[in-house]
Amino acid sequence: METVIEKQQVLQRSVPETTIESLKPKVAIDREDRRTVGDLFVKNPRMTCRKVDVYYGDKQAIRDVSLDIGANEVIAMIGPSGCGKSTFIRCLNRMNDTVEGCRVTGEIRLDETDIYDKRMDVVPLRAQVGMVFQKPNPFPKSIFENIAYGVRIHGLANDKTDLEEIVQHSLERAGLWTEVKDRLPQPGTGLSGGQQQRLCIARTIAVNPEVILMDEPCSALDPIATAKIEDLMDELRQKFTIAIVTHSMQQAARVSQRTAYFHLGDLIEVGETDQVFTNPLHPLTEDYITGRFG
Ligand code: ADP
Repeated sequence: METVIEKQQVLQRSVPETTIESLKPKVAIDREDRRTVGDLFVKNPRMTCRKVDVYYGDKQAIRDVSLDIGANEVIAMIGPSGCGKSTFIRCLNRMNDTVEGCRVTGEIRLDETDIYDKRMDVVPLRAQVGMVFQKPNPFPKSIFENIAYGVRIHGLANDKTDLEEIVQHSLERAGLWTEVKDRLPQPGTGLSGGQQQRLCIARTIAVNPEVILMDEPCSALDPIATAKIEDLMDELRQKFTIAIVTHSMQQAARVSQRTAYFHLGDLIEVGETDQVFTNPLHPLTEDYITGRFG
């Protein structure tokens, strides 16, 4: 498996020195300066976040984050433990509403819709912006029902045949169909960890999301199961937008097109993944990717 260092070496070899130099900021950035640098905005955003602050009680966990999440991209959120990555992605489908004492301010839009509007119904929102968690969490139901349940709740199937087709198609998209097609009535919890995580991805896909949030989706999986999920992410981004939190810089480099680096609640830098890893603009990003911090 290609490491980040190897990837950096390949990239550095393939990028002429003059290009790297020309990418460097004209004015050196102060290490204490916590304003976000890089390409925060994209031409074709699916979600837009502006001046987002998050508090747990009196404690501020995220400060003034503005960022676009582009259509059909995988964007990776990286940074040391406790820097606010999970808090931030949980804002994107109002998962933080379920955390007592958590308050979110600022503006977050899915396409044109303000997702924090008082009239917003969070149930369809969480289908449009689905979430896959760190630990696979299939329902204590059959493999079939794990997928069919949400489809029924959201009224997405016309009849039994339609429902069966949606279940099959979702499992196919999640790369799990051939492994489970002969055991659909068996419990989802009987699958291996990697299969369970793909079942959870299939469940998310089944209700027609626009965006899929993944919070360290591979941290409980072995390297082979991890590789399968990473390959899957690349296929899924043809249709969906994916925001992933990962503590693994190697994973961020492998799966994402854009990377956002968080540090103690501040979004420090956002940019093309190759640029962030080979030529970070901010000294704090450089400290982190070179292993000096975190
Ligand atoms: P990361 O995902 O980067 O590890 P988190 O988003 O989990 O970071 O946490 C950011 C900060 O918010 C940390 O200081 C953490 O202790 C705090 N925090 C996270 N969840 C809660 C919670 N439910 N209640 C209070 N503080 C929290």
